[in-house]
Amino acid sequence: MIYETEETREYRHHLSRWVDERLKPRAEELDNSGEFSIELFREIGELGYLGTMYSEEAGGSGLKKPYTCFTILCEELARASVGFAAGVCMQGSTSTHTLHAWGDEEVKTNFFLPALKGEKIGAFAITEPNAGSDAASLKTKAQKTEGGWLLNGTKVFTTNGTVADFLTVVATTDPALKAKGLELFLVDKTSPGFSVGRKLDKFSVHCSDTAELIFENVFVPDNRRLNNGSGSSFLNAYQALTVDRIFTAALAIGVGRAAYDASLQYIQDRKQFGQPVGKFQAVQFRQVEMLAKLEAARLYTYHAANLADQSKDITREAALAKIIAAENCNEVCHMAMLNYGGWGLMNEFPVQRFLRDSYFPMVGGGTGDIMRMIVARQIGL
Ligand SMILES: Cc1cc2nc3c(=O)[nH]c(=O)nc-3n(C[C@H](O)[C@H](O)[C@H](O)COP(=O)(O)OP(=O)(O)OC[C@H]3O[C@@H](n4cnc5c(N)ncnc54)[C@H](O)[C@@H]3O)c2cc1C
Repeated sequence: MIYETEETREYRHHLSRWVDERLKPRAEELDNSGEFSIELFREIGELGYLGTMYSEEAGGSGLKKPYTCFTILCEELARASVGFAAGVCMQGSTSTHTLHAWGDEEVKTNFFLPALKGEKIGAFAITEPNAGSDAASLKTKAQKTEGGWLLNGTKVFTTNGTVADFLTVVATTDPALKAKGLELFLVDKTSPGFSVGRKLDKFSVHCSDTAELIFENVFVPDNRRLNNGSGSSFLNAYQALTVDRIFTAALAIGVGRAAYDASLQYIQDRKQFGQPVGKFQAVQFRQVEMLAKLEAARLYTYHAANLADQSKDITREAALAKIIAAENCNEVCHMAMLNYGGWGLMNEFPVQRFLRDSYFPMVGGGTGDIMRMIVARQIGL
């Protein structure tokens, strides 16, 4: 595959074995129970995968192509379980990125380093019941007080929300300032006033933990305001979310691959009219269409990751990768369902899970409409 190096090949090879031996056999059970597996999460941490994005000096893996490798991590985990992959993806990128980039020594020692080892779980909470795509209108308020800040508000759809040990919360210091008033605050889950409102029940990615969170006069010390004195940190939040789009695209590719592989096997095994259904041109063409969509998604997403590894601005490419991969792979999963006929609708086959899970990358990290708005701005419209 293009953009691969010996390092990325080895990374994929070792990880892939863990996925086949540890995650894939449990994917269906996790989907049925709806539990995020902390046991498997700790294993991923012990194996060092949560440090993929960071240098050795920072306590991470010190890889030459960290963005490409993290894209591989998201893809490989998602080919077994998008739900589990979503929690790991959140930990290894957004929720640790903000601490690494803008946390002081105390933050790094108590939260960032344990998070890289899988000892602590992190979450990133920006979305609110009445502020999704329009994040700048969020209402969670941060009010200055002696030695820190008091947070009040409600967050929703927070991945890892009920299991998180810490959360990066986006709050406004002045709603009239809209985006310019937004800041990032690191909240320890043991802080008085913090509580989980409810765990949300979902159609898709069952085993990803998704929660509503409540903040009532939650005190955050000054040093856990993640802006290093650089003024408004909305830009910080935005940077963290930009690269995440590539990883969400990788989740789509993982589940698209799983659907493609399952379908290819099925149409060779399933016989009708005295021959495998894969001998019928309509079915063959559908399978080839799936491959075309999948390959386009993979090529573009790894292209974007490769640019990120070169420290290039990827605002446009990350949004395009998410559009291409999320939408192509949702179609791939849909076509896999068609190739399975009636058995596709039965829970004993995983294609229905693949299709359900393929809706998550279409929304998580921003909808396709919002990705199109970002690209439109990038091309001068
Ligand atoms: C499983 C899951 C996990 C998530 N995890 C997290 C998380 O960890 N942390 C977090 O903060 N958030 C998380 N989210 C939230 C996610 O980022 C939002 O759902 C997403 O940004 C869309 O917001 P919304 O759901 O409020 O939709 P809305 O913003 O209400 O959008 C509704 C519709 O209107 C369209 N729309 C809105 N504005 C425009 C516009 N200007 N132009 C054109 N169309 C528009 C949208 O595309 C969509 O079709 C998660 C969501 C899901 C489903």
